[in-house]
Amino acid sequence: MAKVALVTGGSRGIGAAISTALKDAGYTVAANYAGNDDAARAFTEATGIKTYKWSVADYDACADGISRVEAELGPIAVLVNNAGITRDAMFHKMTPQQWKEVIDTNLSGIFNMTHPVWGGMRDRKFGRIINISSVNGQKGQAGQANYSAAKAGDIGFTRALAQEGARANITVNAIAPGYIGTEMVRAIDEKVLAERIIPQIPVGRLGEPEEIARVVVFLASEDAGFITGSTISANGGQFFG
Ligand code: NDP
Repeated sequence: MAKVALVTGGSRGIGAAISTALKDAGYTVAANYAGNDDAARAFTEATGIKTYKWSVADYDACADGISRVEAELGPIAVLVNNAGITRDAMFHKMTPQQWKEVIDTNLSGIFNMTHPVWGGMRDRKFGRIINISSVNGQKGQAGQANYSAAKAGDIGFTRALAQEGARANITVNAIAPGYIGTEMVRAIDEKVLAERIIPQIPVGRLGEPEEIARVVVFLASEDAGFITGSTISANGGQFFG
């Protein structure tokens, strides 16, 4: 029977590429999303992948959603914690709300999603947790104290949990993408992209969502069983973290 993979934020951007690549690799995929029903519907129509709506920032909603996915598709073998948001502001202008929303989604969201699947993975002696962090969690980024803190936290979480999961054959890894050409990045002013961002990337271009998805497929595979607690940088040479 095909293994079940659950991808948060799996109907758009990098998450959509991850969901599709996992499906192509033979997994039964569930794609979670937060609120963009139109994008989710279009994604299901285009790929046949089922979508499930709940917020990763809400622990009870995650536990309920995961139960629903497992009842419909089977036990989750691969969890990709990809959902993320930005609420950028220079720190002197950052509101407590901007801080909280990003921490709740990008950091607590990973706890909220991983905690309900962990017991089952331990019992079944197999699991793959893949957390999508960011180069800005590795190096820090002005205007993103909230995002950088959350994404650095994701890496700490990955390293701690890898140690707890190892004996149960559960690997926990992070991927730290650089600038990838999704809506999140294309929303940046074109002039800023061309003059300030692309010149920071030695390969001279944005990454493609599929370039992150292929790393996920590898980390999810049996072949990657000796890799745990790692953070794989995929950033075109922008930062060697
Ligand atoms: P997008 O904004 O394109 O997509 C974000 C996805 O996350 C959407 O599917 C959205 O759902 C979902 N989402 C947001 N909040 C929640 C929530 N509370 N609960 C469930 N789902 C949620 O983002 P990207 O594809 O660009 O980014 C994906 C991940 O990669 C993020 O964690 C991001 O921080 C990280 N990253 C991105 C980089 C980039 O250059 N793009 C660089 C480094 C890291 P909905 O469709 O309903 O809105």
